[in-house]
Amino acid sequence: MPELPEVETIKCGLEKSITGKTISGFDSDWHKMLNKPLRDYQRLLKGLKITVVRRRAKMLILDLSKDWHFLIHLKMTGQLVYASKVKCVVGGHPIEQGYDCLPNKFTHATISFTDKSHLYFNDIRKFGWIRLFNSEQLAKHLEDMKLGVEPLSPAFTIKYLKNWILKRPNNQIKKFLMDSTVVVGVGNIYSDEVCFYASIRPTRKVKELKDKEISLIYKGIRNILQASIKAQGTTFRDFRNADGEAGGYSKKIKVYGKYGKKCPICRSKIERIKMGGRSSSYCPKCQK
Ligand SMILES: [Zn+2]
Repeated sequence: MPELPEVETIKCGLEKSITGKTISGFDSDWHKMLNKPLRDYQRLLKGLKITVVRRRAKMLILDLSKDWHFLIHLKMTGQLVYASKVKCVVGGHPIEQGYDCLPNKFTHATISFTDKSHLYFNDIRKFGWIRLFNSEQLAKHLEDMKLGVEPLSPAFTIKYLKNWILKRPNNQIKKFLMDSTVVVGVGNIYSDEVCFYASIRPTRKVKELKDKEISLIYKGIRNILQASIKAQGTTFRDFRNADGEAGGYSKKIKVYGKYGKKCPICRSKIERIKMGGRSSSYCPKCQK
């Protein structure tokens, strides 16, 4: 699943292409990805303009005129493709199919624009969704998700992190980092990378962390996410950036998915541990 840097990368790619476009139509063959009947989407959306493209946690928000908003989650295999006569912008899962024949069998929602270009939502496994809300409903929906702060916002401070450690003392650090009520956008990849950065085993309980270690975790989150955004995210099985290219951060990954390989610092063999259905990779020598 794409994490914060990947969704931010898609956002930046789409922003340039669709901001200011006027919607001429909407279609979908998969009602579960919608939160209203299809005919309501079609009635409400016609003539609305996309005013802003933004991100909250791992979701994209398209602000529309007349106080409406799309809230989009790509989940495991969702992909957004913007296609006009002159360009094609792809973000999300790298579905192996030519972009010259859109819509294809994986296209489950299509936003059409008055200039005859389209935004296609393709999804092999169909877990992704594209919901439509007015401002009040959107605010309520986001509130109900109980999302923590954005890790790159000024609200994310060491004090904030310490307050959550007091509330969740027995959580293992990896689980704690992946908890979106604490901080959003950090998943399996970046939690492994942050633990490595801070030289901390993913299984350590947060109440046992020293002040110095908490500072390193905090710095690790900010530095790693920022570096990954700069490199346009990490390409893994399920992700391509908005131009359909591999994200540049893949080359900088230190431990995630690298069990059996050598630690880039001490050359020890990277190990893997199962933690509640997920696996985590770490260096047994560098991470205490
Ligand atoms: Zn090591």
